[in-house]
Parts: sequence; C-alpha cells; structure tokens
Amino acid sequence: MDTVFTKIIKGEIPSYKVTEDKNFYAFLDINPLKKGHTLVIPKKQVDYVFDLDDELYKDFFLFAKRVAKAIKKAYPCVKVGMAVIGLEVPHAHIHLVPMDEMGDLQFSNPKLQFTKEEFLEIASNIASAMEIE
Ligand code: AMP
Repeated sequence: MDTVFTKIIKGEIPSYKVTEDKNFYAFLDINPLKKGHTLVIPKKQVDYVFDLDDELYKDFFLFAKRVAKAIKKAYPCVKVGMAVIGLEVPHAHIHLVPMDEMGDLQFSNPKLQFTKEEFLEIASNIASAMEIE
C-alpha cells in the first residue's frame, strides 16, 4: 500500500516541493517546528531508514546535506538539525529543522502555522538557495 509520502511523490497528494532528483524528494513539513522545516524522502518506499541499501542510504544523506545547506542560506540559523523519527509515517524521512537553540528540535513543541502563500514562499526561497549552490 502506498504511504502518504509515496502519494506525494506520485502527485496524488499536494506538497510544498523544495527539490527532487531521480531518487529523492524534499518538501516542507506541514506541521513545522520552525520556518524552513523540510522533509527529505527516498522515492523508493522503504519504512525504516536503516533498511535502505548502502548506496541509497549514502546518497540519501548526501542529498539531505545539500538541502540543509540551502535551508541555512534561506533561513539563517545557528545550525540545521537533523532528526529521523518515523513513528507517524512509515516511509523513511529525514527532518531538517533550522535551529537557534536546543529546544528548537523538540517534537513536542507547538507547531507553526503558515498560509498556503507563506508555505509556497518558504519552499521557493529554499529552492532558490539550492540553485545558487
Ligand atoms: P514522523 O513519522 O514521526 O517522523 O513524523 C512525520 C512527519 O510528517 C510529521 O512531522 C508530519 O507533520 C509530516 N507530515 C505528515 N503528512 C504530511 C504531508 N502530507 N505533507 C507534509 N508533511 C507531512
């Protein structure tokens, strides 16, 4: 059965896309902890990140690294934090979250709300920052 993230990749569910390549897709988390909170996923539907084969696993993190650099450029912060949780959606994903302090990566924090236009602008800002890499 397709996960919600596979449906996003197939275009069956909308997303605020940041970037993609042959194997990976990056889009905004709809319940962001911080402005710029992005999810990176493999297009291959694999639940548990440590079940990815070595080649895909390595490329997954290299892809996330490029996205993280763009997030930091678009939304300056102390560091972009990375978390792999996966308890909600059974499709491997890396959370990339701009952090200014320790508490910014607490998933129990209240989530931010943005309008559709704001989400589109955030995704576009990060996408533009990738282009000037
Ligand atoms: P977890 O599986 O615990 O790492 O959490 C899954 C994350 O996916 C949560 O932060 C959700 O807000 C996010 N999420 C779930 N559905 C969507 C969606 N359709 N678009 C964007 N983000 C989503």
